[in-house]
This record gives sequence, structure tokens and C-alpha cells, in this order.
Amino acid sequence: MRAQLVSLLSALADLVAPARCLGCAAPHPPDQRWCGACALSLAPPSKPPAEVFALYEHLGPVARAIRRAKYDNAPELAHALGRALGAAMPPFAPGPVCLVPVPLHPQRLRERGYNQAAEIARGVAEMHNLTVRHDLLLRVRATRPQAQADRALRQRNLEGAFAAAGSLPRGLLLVVDDVTTTGSTLRLCREALRAAGAERVASAAVSSSTRRSAC
Ligand SMILES: [Zn+2]
Repeated sequence: MRAQLVSLLSALADLVAPARCLGCAAPHPPDQRWCGACALSLAPPSKPPAEVFALYEHLGPVARAIRRAKYDNAPELAHALGRALGAAMPPFAPGPVCLVPVPLHPQRLRERGYNQAAEIARGVAEMHNLTVRHDLLLRVRATRPQAQADRALRQRNLEGAFAAAGSLPRGLLLVVDDVTTTGSTLRLCREALRAAGAERVASAAVSSSTRRSAC
């Protein structure tokens, strides 16, 4: 019922304002997420980190979309990317009981006004009728931006950054992020949840990058 309502509202929104390509914002038919030109540049992830489901290689229109979703005050774009990720996600058996976005440090959250990973998780959740739990994983230490850092530095930068909180629900928890490079962030999130007693933890990201400088 809720999914039908969301789809109806989305159809009504398309009547008022045409759908925009996630990569270049060009108008295009409402049943597509990417315009024809951007769709040609999409690629599956070439080397996603272990234990991460990623939808795209972090290149071209996908990289632009994620950059805008993070830095251009565009939470609706992160949400749309989450719906794309949710639509492509493989069935987990049994499926996740809830989604856990990779948290931002509270100071970064205040500066940005939203957590792009939470908006992505909201999009995934809508496609699978799941809930997003913002309270289960905390970023307890601010970390420096990861871009340009090498693998060892990223690792040191992130140690102790995450901690699980509250009473974890039984079943599979799915940790969601925007882009993964070495997989360190998602791995440390999974480890924090497992250390707190999570039964099963998986992780997903919109894109996977083999380059150090992914945003
Ligand atoms: Zn486009």
C-alpha cells in the first residue's frame, strides 16, 4: 500500500515537473533515472571491496551525481540514488530487518544539514519497505576527509571512529554508504555492529571507486 502511494506521488510529481537525469539534470522520460548519454557511461563496479554490494563504478555521471548529492545541498539526489540502489539490490535471504546509514560526525551533519548516506538509505528503504535506523551506529570521532589519503592513512584515520549504540534488532542489518573505495569505512561499521552483538551485517554503496580521490 505504502509502495503504491509512493509510486502514485512520484507519477504526480512527474506531471508537475519532468524527471531529471541524475547525472546531468537534463529532463527526460519519467521511467528512466539517467538520460541516454549518461546511461551509456554507466558501468558496473570493477573491483568492489569484499562484503560490499555496489551498484556502479564511480565514474562520469555517477561520480558527478554523488558529488552533487554531498556538496551541493541536494539531499533529494541522494534519495534518488538510493532508490536506484534499492531497485538493483539482490535479494538477501532472509532479508535485512533495517538499514543503517554510515553516520556523519554531528559537527559535519550540522554543517551539511543532512547525511547523504541516510538519504540514500531512505531511498533503498522505500524500495524494500524497510525502516532506516539512525540510532544504531554513531560516529564517535571526527575524521579527516579521506580523499587523497593512502590506504594505510585511511585505516589509521578511521580506527575507533564508529560505535554501535542501543539495542540491536535481531536479523540482518544493512549498512549503507554513498561511495566505497578501500571498503574500510563499511568494514569498520560492520565490525562495530558485530562487536555489539549484531547477528548478521551486510553493506551496500551506490558506487565503488578504485581511485584514491573518490569524494
Ligand atoms: Zn544525463
